[in-house]
Amino acid sequence: MSRILIVEDEASIAELEKDYLELSGFEVEIELTGDGGLVKALTGNYDLLILDLMLPGVDGFEICRKVREVQNTPILMVSARKDDIDKIRGLGLGADDYMTKPFSPSELVARVKAHLARYERLVSSASPANDVIEIRGLKIDKTARRVWVNGEEKAFTTKEFDLLTFLASHPNHVYTKDELFREVWAMESIGDIATVTVHIKKIREKIETNTSKPQYIETIWGVGYRFKI
Ligand code: CA
Repeated sequence: MSRILIVEDEASIAELEKDYLELSGFEVEIELTGDGGLVKALTGNYDLLILDLMLPGVDGFEICRKVREVQNTPILMVSARKDDIDKIRGLGLGADDYMTKPFSPSELVARVKAHLARYERLVSSASPANDVIEIRGLKIDKTARRVWVNGEEKAFTTKEFDLLTFLASHPNHVYTKDELFREVWAMESIGDIATVTVHIKKIREKIETNTSKPQYIETIWGVGYRFKI
């Protein structure tokens, strides 16, 4: 759920905006002072800010400028005076949108949705997709280091995860315990190749339906292990 901060000194306007935004499924907080608004805007981790321009103490211009120094959170500025809007534009504060009071609450909701959607697209295009392996019911997110078995997330220790990921990244390749130990425990002095056997057992308990008939990690007797695809 997207979280929105409204900084507005007129409580009735703030409440009206809050009601409409909450009806649209947003989580909304109100701050009636500029000073409090600035602190919340900088520390509250909101998805969007609605800033009134004229506030007691720190005004909307200042909040916008300070927030922009450190965050790209969408900012919608509102003012009772039309010439303020020209001033906001002229100052190049980095606000994303401007509205003149009075405005219809549904117009506000529409704009909030549009800016959140645009920001979402921006953020998702900027971050690379996670590296994910999916084999039958097993899903490994190598970037997030998370594992799901038939849709259910399972907890893995660091080494269990590294070993499973290494095998699943090289399917149908037989590795000896020595090779796996060197690969996963490489620079660490503790442990020996028996550690590999123990970890394989623990991984199987988490990913296999029947550990005596493994569907994923196969034992190749006298040689080592192979991830079946
Ligand atoms: Ca005001």
